[in-house]
Amino acid sequence: MGEYVVCCYTVRQQITSLITPTPFAGRINAESKARKPAQLKSATRFLKQPGLISLGGGLPLSDYFPFEELSIKVPTPGNFDRSTQETGQTLVAGKHDLTTGKSLFDISTAFNYGQGTGSAQLLRFLTEHTEIVHNPPYADWQCTMTIGSTSSLDVTLRMFRHPNMCMLVEEYTFSTAMEAARPMGIEGVGVAMDEEGLIPSDLDRILNTWNPAEHNNAPKPFLLYVVPSGQNPTGATQSLPRRKEVYAVAQKHDLVIIEDEPYYFLQMQPYTGQGAPDAPPPASHAEFLASLVPSLLSMDTDGRVIRLDSLSKVIAPGSRLGWITAPAQICERYYRHADVSTQGPCGISQLVVWKLLDEHWGHAGYLDWLVHIRLEYTRRRDVMLGACEEYLPREVLSWKPPMAGMFHWIEVNWRRHPKAREMDMLDLEERIWLKSIEMGALVIRGSWFVAEADGPQEKMFFRTTFAAAPFDKIREAIRRFGEAVREEFDLVA
Ligand code: PMP
Repeated sequence: MGEYVVCCYTVRQQITSLITPTPFAGRINAESKARKPAQLKSATRFLKQPGLISLGGGLPLSDYFPFEELSIKVPTPGNFDRSTQETGQTLVAGKHDLTTGKSLFDISTAFNYGQGTGSAQLLRFLTEHTEIVHNPPYADWQCTMTIGSTSSLDVTLRMFRHPNMCMLVEEYTFSTAMEAARPMGIEGVGVAMDEEGLIPSDLDRILNTWNPAEHNNAPKPFLLYVVPSGQNPTGATQSLPRRKEVYAVAQKHDLVIIEDEPYYFLQMQPYTGQGAPDAPPPASHAEFLASLVPSLLSMDTDGRVIRLDSLSKVIAPGSRLGWITAPAQICERYYRHADVSTQGPCGISQLVVWKLLDEHWGHAGYLDWLVHIRLEYTRRRDVMLGACEEYLPREVLSWKPPMAGMFHWIEVNWRRHPKAREMDMLDLEERIWLKSIEMGALVIRGSWFVAEADGPQEKMFFRTTFAAAPFDKIREAIRRFGEAVREEFDLVA
């Protein structure tokens, strides 16, 4: 795919607030409001003055960085299916490539202190990418870089937390999210889900009937945390009509939406069934982008979405690179915090990723890579589904083919267990889980993802992932899990 995506990059970092979004009024807490520009960083603006001798900022001289050159071997567009060892290209970053005019980024700059927003070089690329993919429909959106979405959520919650508050989340949610929220005094309120994820009418019902007395006197919630594509743990993906409905309920109740989308580009090809011909891959970038369910950000006319993006699932988790997209006002609160905490993402990581994404691949090459990842995950998912169809007892297990992400969510009809009447659901879940481990297959218990700490647990699920194991091992693990369930339920193979 050689087609180039045209992008009109506007200098968003210059735009102050053109519109004042209302969803944040009175909601950003005193701690976040009190964050002022870091004084030491503000002095750097004078460095542009001709002839100025700086004895100001405490930036070490790059001569003392014990790194002269960095080389990375990376895949080349057109060869993603072939060995990088054989067909890859070596990219080299020198210490002074910027001053010698060899490159727009170099070791002496990237490895020194930077800004809480991340480097201008990588931030420009990520902002352009956001414009290409989501094109947020309001004026003053911005991106600011993060050290990954785990941290983005932590920082965002810290911006909005108030004593004794609740946050709306999917009834089964990314466990780390609640583990970050609870110690801040933020309790989760689970919204019912179906195979398309969060059910908007249930969200509306909860908000319409909110009674503080039933929630430890917490006021009506204004934060909604949601993972619309390839949700962790359920694998559910919200369709476009579903997203529109969620957004409409958010407008009705004036919610701030935290859209956590690490699996956005792991939206896979449609599942055609075992043995049936595969759906043809996207023939162009335009077709690829059109095949992705539009994000909540892309329909955010009010500026109420704080979108968390991450390179963890599409480049590498150890890069610890991500970004948020939100109104300028929110981005500013975010990078003011970063200035005095992380000081922005790791410069070494930013240089490596910038070399790959901007200097080597460009937007077109990156989209090619994302298509490649999509097809890889499609194959993995299809192997997992094939094994489930072959080995799992349908009498007691059921599932829906996931359309995105890396997780497959299997429901157990535990009431058919011979001991269902005398045993607690959670004890039974543990029993099946341990039996599966004993037989050599580790899966994850669904109850670990329940949003409400003390909520009733009526259904039993197990989460499996097709992200990493070799195909034959995925099949073998599913076979063993099926055997464990059969043994537990006294079913004949
Ligand atoms: N959000 C969700 C929903 C996830 O599943 C994960 C990874 N397990 C993360 C965030 C973490 O992303 P990151 O590596 O960017 O911190």
